[in-house]
Amino acid sequence: MSINDSILNSVGLTDKNIKFIISEDGNFNELVPYGHYHHLVLLYKASLATPPEYCPQCGFSLTDHLYLSGTDSAKYKLPTTNGYQQILYLTKQRYQCRRCRSTFVAQSPDFMERSSISRPLLHQIIDLAKRDISEKNIAYILHLSTSKVNQLMHHAAKAYQTNYTKKLPTVICVDEFHYAKYQYSFEMIDGRTSELIELFPNRTSTNIRKYLSNYALTNRQRVEYVVTDMNANYSTPLRQMFPNAQIIIDRFHIIQLAMKAVQSTRITIQRAINNKHSRVYKLLKSNWQFFITNLTKLDLNQTRWFKGINEYMYPQDALQLVFGLSHHFKQAYEVYQAILTSQQNHSFDDFSAIVAQYKPNHSAMDQVILSYKKNYKGIKNAFSNPASNGRIEGTNRRIKQIGRTAYGYGNPHNYFFRIRLQLFNRHQIKVNFMNLLTQKTTMNLI
Ligand SMILES: [Zn+2]
Repeated sequence: MSINDSILNSVGLTDKNIKFIISEDGNFNELVPYGHYHHLVLLYKASLATPPEYCPQCGFSLTDHLYLSGTDSAKYKLPTTNGYQQILYLTKQRYQCRRCRSTFVAQSPDFMERSSISRPLLHQIIDLAKRDISEKNIAYILHLSTSKVNQLMHHAAKAYQTNYTKKLPTVICVDEFHYAKYQYSFEMIDGRTSELIELFPNRTSTNIRKYLSNYALTNRQRVEYVVTDMNANYSTPLRQMFPNAQIIIDRFHIIQLAMKAVQSTRITIQRAINNKHSRVYKLLKSNWQFFITNLTKLDLNQTRWFKGINEYMYPQDALQLVFGLSHHFKQAYEVYQAILTSQQNHSFDDFSAIVAQYKPNHSAMDQVILSYKKNYKGIKNAFSNPASNGRIEGTNRRIKQIGRTAYGYGNPHNYFFRIRLQLFNRHQIKVNFMNLLTQKTTMNLI
């Protein structure tokens, strides 16, 4: 390997037509003050000569019809090493076509037109973006401006295309997350590895059908289980698009729905209390966690401290105090606890008995029971199948963290791209360097 190749390797460039200028005593770079703030940079000098075979203007073969027409020089930013920014001064050969007289400069796959960012530097940006690091910090680490990093990420986001030929897993979890005002995305996760399969920017039935139909039918037929929440929008398109799959309602969502009904009933009766200093008001207001805790996990022979009213009480006494006030709350609470127990015992028979015996009373629980009836089959599958949506909840937490690190995203393209970078399998996103700044690429999703 020549010295030139070694230097190429150390700065991350690949084009062997780049010839570094090595001084008589063997130096190929030097530390010099640079830029407005005179910070020290490692400076390299090189030349590039790649005579093209055909004229890019007229397409004529250039074997004998080429003039040399002086040189162009350009400055490129290379990846950082030891904290130093590295700059390359490149002298590029200029050519002229003898036939059409047009001139053009030597090109290299390591650099983009009209940009001072080199390919290895862009890859360094993308690599850092796969971690939970803000664009501002990436810019600081790589000695770039934040707007430059943002611009490059934006171009990369626009050039991104969903890989619809990717083999779908046998278990898919689907969910949604809220990313802008009235905007919910539809996400698919591998139920076994918890890897993100893809994010789609809309969750309406029509759009879900449109997105999923891009996957070949044979691919979709591989899916055996689809784990989902009780959102009515999904189940029909999911059943159509995954013809061999069983729809499973996620166990976490079954509980969550009843839990929310308990919460809203509690808030309703709490608001109806006029005396804000009464014991029951203070009990309800300050102990919301107590009212959704699984009763079987509480020690009923032991008093516990209740905030707000500042007393030690037996749990059942606290419950009686509230039950005396509202039989709606009593019913909601008992249904919720019974559902928790039926899940603990993996007994669908117990669950269906609860649903069958429920008497509507115009409370929030009525809607819950109605949802259960609508999704009866999916819930039955949930009791007999260990697949769960628990993984997707973890993914949603990470997605929110990505938004927080950036203090929110104004542009959903960039947000989605960053999510994909951080949540996809590390090698899945490849950024096509040459297509980046050509503006021709279109976002295929939003
Ligand atoms: Zn020409």
